[in-house]
Amino acid sequence: MNQEKQIKEKSLPLAIGLNIVLPGLGYMYMGKWLIGIAGCLLIIGISWNAYISGGDVLTTWVVVNIIMGIDMLILSNKNKAKLIADEMKKCPACAELIKKEAVVCRFCNRELN
Ligand SMILES: [Zn+2]
Repeated sequence: MNQEKQIKEKSLPLAIGLNIVLPGLGYMYMGKWLIGIAGCLLIIGISWNAYISGGDVLTTWVVVNIIMGIDMLILSNKNKAKLIADEMKKCPACAELIKKEAVVCRFCNRELN
């Protein structure tokens, strides 16, 4: 719970920015240390492979970073959705989403127990 709150407060553009500087750093920033380290090694491996085989290292680097950026975006949205699900419930009368702590529904004014 505490960790999820931290992820929510982190800035996604900064995470993606960090990841462009050093792949995997964005994940580490978001608290995903293992994925960050694994991702970093993977990208160094892929780029090194491209370099040895005479491929375009820069393109490989950018493409992998874009893929990681998209994944981070999905991760960030999942965390947000989970946070909302943790804090909200459905009103039994009008089915609108209201806070779990609510005593009265803010949509239909029904009292909740
Ligand atoms: Zn209601």
